Amino acid sequence: MSAVILGIESTAHTLSFGFVDVEGVAYPSESAVFKPEEGGIHPREAADHHSKVAGELLKRFMETHELSRRDIDAVAFSQGPGLGPCLRVGASIARSLSHSWNIPLVGVNHCVAHIEIGRSQTGCDDPVLLYVSGGNTQVIARANERYRVLGETLDIGIGNMLDKFARAQGIPFPGGPEIERLAAAWTADTPGAELSGVSLPYGVQGMDLTFSGILTAAQQKTLDGNPLREVCWSLQEHSFAACVEVAERAMAHTGKEELLLGGGVACNERLREMSQIMCGERGGESFWPARPFCVDNGTMIAELGRRMIDSGTITSLTNSAVSPGLRTDHTIVTWD
Ligand code: AMP
Ligand code: MG
Repeated sequence: MSAVILGIESTAHTLSFGFVDVEGVAYPSESAVFKPEEGGIHPREAADHHSKVAGELLKRFMETHELSRRDIDAVAFSQGPGLGPCLRVGASIARSLSHSWNIPLVGVNHCVAHIEIGRSQTGCDDPVLLYVSGGNTQVIARANERYRVLGETLDIGIGNMLDKFARAQGIPFPGGPEIERLAAAWTADTPGAELSGVSLPYGVQGMDLTFSGILTAAQQKTLDGNPLREVCWSLQEHSFAACVEVAERAMAHTGKEELLLGGGVACNERLREMSQIMCGERGGESFWPARPFCVDNGTMIAELGRRMIDSGTITSLTNSAVSPGLRTDHTIVTWD
């Protein structure tokens, strides 16, 4: 293997190393996910996990792909947005590899990386991105030199909402996949299920979304004695429909005909189906990358790093501080 870009992801629960070659061919990442024993993710505990496993994980990554330091042309890392202590672990690893291997460093915007890996994996060109992850929920589209946020959650990310609901039911992190399984079981076992379900708040405000109200209401519905599977199904239907509605309006406003899903919640089959139906009805097309490229992964960081380096951007040591509150539209898009 020669001439690759290494990418390091560490914005939240996942520490991940991945790479692309100079043509942008993507390879699977090597990842370690922090799973709290109880409660949500404590940033310091997640960061401690990342620093503890980093050495072993990097070694395994290099061995699995038969990479040597001489193969690596540059190192990219998630500069933000994310949890400060977690970001600092990835940035420290990137800085020290850049220094000791004498290769360029490039700090990348995590949200933009989801878009670029999606574009490179699916072949879509100028999509509206529905970015649905643990910490983020945004509807994004490129206008001139920026990816603009056209709508976003005003409170918690949709994945975080699903995880919190699941945790209250005793389902461990990540809760999204188990909610999907329970919801699918409800429709499979219940004749006329699509006409049933519990009523929940629908969190659309203009182009923005909210999820804390639906979380509280869904928890109350289970306390009221409604079957968990029925509440899971209703939770998905309401929250996914809200996201797809905003994405549709973004497509209508921008005139774009492609919808790209990204983020961990984009693994969900029902969300994919809803997106497909919406796009089909308006003559558009929906896309999503394979699961390992939907969830947080080092490969997407490498891919955005590659595009930035190719268009002449690298990050000096003095500009390599992490940026926990970095916005999607802060990054100037210098590549095609
Ligand atoms: P990310 O933050 O992008 O790494 O994605 C993690 C989030 O994706 C967590 O909140 C998970 O619960 C959620 N997730 C993963 N798989 C699924 C799924 N099949 N359905 C719904 N949510 C999911
Ligand atoms: Mg993410």
